[in-house]
Amino acid sequence: MEKHILSKSTFLRGLQCSKSLYLYKYFIQKRDVVSPEQKAIFNRGNNVGVLAQKLFPGGVDATPEKRSNNIAAVENTRKLIESGVEVIYEAAFQFNQVLAILDILVKKDNEWYAYEVKSSTKISPVYLLDASLQYWVITNSGIQLKDISLIIINNQYVRNGDVDLKGLFSIKSVLKEALANQNLVQENVDRSMSVVNTPSEPDVKIGEHCFSPYSCDFMGNCWKSVPSNSVFEITGVKKTELFALYNKGYKTVDQIPAENELDKNANIHIQAIKSKKEIIDKAAVATFLKKATYPLFFMDFETFMPAVPLYEKTKPYQHIPFQYSLHYKKDKNSNLEHFEFLADEHSDPRKAFLERLLKDTELEGIILVYDILMERNVLNGLKKDFPEFASEIDNRLSRMVDLVQPFQERAYYHPDMKNSFSIKNVLPALVPELSYSNLKIGSGSVAMIAFENLRKESDMFRALETREQLLEYCKLDTFAMVKIFEVLEGVVVNI
Ligand code: SF4
Repeated sequence: MEKHILSKSTFLRGLQCSKSLYLYKYFIQKRDVVSPEQKAIFNRGNNVGVLAQKLFPGGVDATPEKRSNNIAAVENTRKLIESGVEVIYEAAFQFNQVLAILDILVKKDNEWYAYEVKSSTKISPVYLLDASLQYWVITNSGIQLKDISLIIINNQYVRNGDVDLKGLFSIKSVLKEALANQNLVQENVDRSMSVVNTPSEPDVKIGEHCFSPYSCDFMGNCWKSVPSNSVFEITGVKKTELFALYNKGYKTVDQIPAENELDKNANIHIQAIKSKKEIIDKAAVATFLKKATYPLFFMDFETFMPAVPLYEKTKPYQHIPFQYSLHYKKDKNSNLEHFEFLADEHSDPRKAFLERLLKDTELEGIILVYDILMERNVLNGLKKDFPEFASEIDNRLSRMVDLVQPFQERAYYHPDMKNSFSIKNVLPALVPELSYSNLKIGSGSVAMIAFENLRKESDMFRALETREQLLEYCKLDTFAMVKIFEVLEGVVVNI
């Protein structure tokens, strides 16, 4: 058997962009450096696939000793089928140098059924194409499938005792879609094969396809002629609108004419870039500050979202709070105090989190949060889980004020915010001396994965190091809020 040329992932890459497929095959070194955030996501332990295998117990895994030896995987699968094995995990097939590895293959009443596991709660168009390719490879290699299904997570499942696999997973047949896509698969396999077999790079211009369905990992290569301060730096605007401007010749934000089709917020950004100045509505900032009077708490939560519920009465992907940071200032000139909590990773963190939080916020005072939605949802969720604390939780909810408001409403706009009001954009614009860039954990999603992985960490020193990094990160989040608040206070000093 010849080595495969296309796999599921390269087939999907070719569907997104033939140049991406070509570069991946021949110039992999041009691929963008993987960010620490992406690395953390890739390394995330995913036990969903292994758990789903238990829906079909007693199977045999076709994975060879050397995992990368795909020819051996195909050979193992063939032998298992021939020897009468009826449940095969990681079943590998190859047809016309296209490789497909299926999560679970099952024989029932002499008919074959294919199952692909996704840790998502929804079926996306990419999953349907992925299943369609699997169907094409498997059936063309001689195994006729009675059905092909996706196994996804049921987001309505609530854990009650041991995990109930039949409740946790939903099995959806996608045979109809797979059959309807067979011609498309054939055409795209042929097209991708010709891309790979042609010695020159396809001439593909940058476009919306660079972002959809995934952000391409060759943007550093293809986008290098896009100037800094380009129109693409305006966040919150549809890519179609930005490409329309770019293709009309407006390459940078300052070239965009005053008469344009962009919305009010994008135009505030354009105006700030052109004037190279902040745009501040002092009266609006002052109105906000009237709601945020001392004493003040600055509060931030970190949560993780296990796909498989770990604790009683929780759902898949529910936000489980495991950490908070609180800065407290009695009045404008008093010292800043700091409180923090980081849960024990080996037990349900919710009650300990809540009890400590209520204690640390029992003093009177407005509680500032940045982008209130998550903190509010977490507290409302805890209220349901622990109704005995409902009135105290309601008290904290009623004291919460959202520090994002003056930025969201453009009462204070700095051109470096790039039309975004995320704290990751607002902080460097307003307080450039503070930065997340030197932190090992520098974003909420990395913190989430770091805590989830701590549960499996056996090296005590590594675990302690991760815990210190988590504390440092969350503390910076609330310290950043303190500094941002001081900038707002500075605005109204001379009103
Ligand atoms: S950056 Fe865009 S044009 Fe370049 S390979 Fe990726 S998708 Fe294709």
